[in-house]
Amino acid sequence: MSALDIHQIPVFSDNYIYLAKYDDNNNCVAVDPADPSATLAALDELGWNLTHILNTHHHPDHTGGNTTLKEAKGCTIVGSVGEAANTPGIDVEVQDGDALTLGGHKVKIIGTPGHTSGHISFWFEDALALFCGDTLFSMGCGRVFEGTPAQMWDSLKKLRELPDDTKICCAHEYTEANVAFSLSIEPDNADLKKRADEVAALRAEGKPTVPSRMGEEKKVNPFLRGDVAETQAAIGMAGQDATAVFTEIRHRKDVF
Ligand code: ZN
Ligand code: FE
Repeated sequence: MSALDIHQIPVFSDNYIYLAKYDDNNNCVAVDPADPSATLAALDELGWNLTHILNTHHHPDHTGGNTTLKEAKGCTIVGSVGEAANTPGIDVEVQDGDALTLGGHKVKIIGTPGHTSGHISFWFEDALALFCGDTLFSMGCGRVFEGTPAQMWDSLKKLRELPDDTKICCAHEYTEANVAFSLSIEPDNADLKKRADEVAALRAEGKPTVPSRMGEEKKVNPFLRGDVAETQAAIGMAGQDATAVFTEIRHRKDVF
C-alpha cells in the first residue's frame, strides 16, 4: 500500500479542493471538486488519474464540478444517501458506518449532520486524513443550515475523538476570521494567541493555514470546547450543559 499523497487546490474566494493519490498507479480521488477546470488542470500537472469524486454534502461550492468531471474522466461519484437527490451524478450512496477501500486504504464514512442534514466526512484512517467539508474548520465550524445545533455538536464530538495527529482537510480557508472570533470568546487562551500569530504569518505569505491537526484544534477551537471548563467560564456559562454552551457560541459567531 502506498502512502496517501494529498494535493490541495485553492479555488473561488476561499474553497479548497483536495486530490488524494491512493496507489502506485497514480489513481486519485477528488474531494468536493467544485471547480472542474482547476481540478482538470491539477490532474494534468500531477499526472494523476481521477477514479472517484467524494462529496461531503450537496452545496454547489462542493458538487459544482461533478457533471463535467464525470463526463471528462468517467469517475465514480460517492456521496451521502441522505443527499442523493441533490448530488449531481451520484453513483454510490453512503452513510455513517460505511467504509470504502481504495488501493488498500480504508476510508470510513462518518455521519456529520448539522451544516446540512446529510453531511458526511471521509476518514482515511491509516493516513490520519479527515476530509470534513463544511463541518469542522480551523477554529471554526460550519453554519448550521439544515440541522440543529445539538446535531452539529454531536458531529463535532465524533470528529474530536479521532487521533490528535489527524490532519483536518476542511473545505474553506476561513481561519483568519475564525481567529478573530475565537479570541472574542477566549481572549486569555495562550494556545489560541500563539496560533493567532502563526495564522497571521502564514496569511501574510499567502500560504494556507489548513490542514491543521486535531490535537491543536482541541486547544484553540471554541466549537470543540463546549464542555471545557475554561471556555464555559470565559462566556459566563460555567457548569452548564455542553450543548447549550455550543449553541451559544454558534449563535455568537452567527452575529459576529
Ligand atoms: Zn456548505
Ligand atoms: Fe462550502
